[in-house]
Amino acid sequence: MNIDLEIFSPVHQITNPLFDAHEVKVFLKRDDLIHPMISGNKWRKLKYLLKSAQNQHKNYLVTFGGAYSNHLLATAAAAAKFGFKSTGIVRGEEVDNNTLFLCKLHGMQMLFTDRISYRDKPALFQKHFGNNEQSFFIDEGGSSAEGAQGCAELVNELTDSYDHIFCACGTGTTAAGIINGITSHQLTTKFNAIPVFKNGGFIRNEINRFLTAPADYDLHTDYHFGGYGKATDELIDFVKHFVAATGIVIEPVYTGKMMYALYDLIGKGHFKPGSKILAIHSGGIWGLLGMKDRF
Ligand SMILES: *Cc1c(COP(=O)(O)O)cnc(C)c1O
Repeated sequence: MNIDLEIFSPVHQITNPLFDAHEVKVFLKRDDLIHPMISGNKWRKLKYLLKSAQNQHKNYLVTFGGAYSNHLLATAAAAAKFGFKSTGIVRGEEVDNNTLFLCKLHGMQMLFTDRISYRDKPALFQKHFGNNEQSFFIDEGGSSAEGAQGCAELVNELTDSYDHIFCACGTGTTAAGIINGITSHQLTTKFNAIPVFKNGGFIRNEINRFLTAPADYDLHTDYHFGGYGKATDELIDFVKHFVAATGIVIEPVYTGKMMYALYDLIGKGHFKPGSKILAIHSGGIWGLLGMKDRF
């Protein structure tokens, strides 16, 4: 089977009086429209991993994530679509939620594991799948050089030039890929990463691991809102207003923090007048289901 998806990810301009006041133009790259379940950067990260599994004649994907992981869901759905079996090894005691329901719906087996064992993923893989020659290891979040390679392709799709690209950052693989794309096209675009974790400065090492050449980019580490999966009322309000004003769904875990950062920096006069800014909608809107009691 040919492992590919036809990429539908148009660029949409969004408007706001704030942008006019600061003379900037803001565009969204709609990776959220690539696939309803294998959404956004998750498809880009999985593409070359799945191809490599196929080349090695492995038909069983084994991967890792928290109980709300968009990556687990994307892997479950991609496995189902492209004829793989899959297991998700989930951090923490057995729970049930909307994300895991959707994983199971796509035929993924769930294996819950304590937080200490979870730290050593190769050991877990060896323990549970060491005897299974069909099994293929995919790291948490799809973090890998293959993942970065897939994300670099986003830059090939751009038909216009931008002064800045903004993207939410978890493992840093997506950021690294886009930076590599910027480098290989010799663009002057400045990449801006928004880590969604507290003390996100460490992400620079993670990003640099997958860079094909040293690059200069900005990390904005003040937009974590308390840490991974955490949100303040201010962030929730921002997400609500953004969705109601644009008709584009974002969520508080990744894209909400990234868009909040962008609006905040625009308001603070961070960008030169005339700047064109492209924000990456990296998908993940199912994450909303885990936070609906906050709305
Ligand atoms: C997983 C995810 C990210 C983080 O991507 P990394 O490559 O791990 O940095 C960003 N946005 C969304 C919506 C995600 O689901």
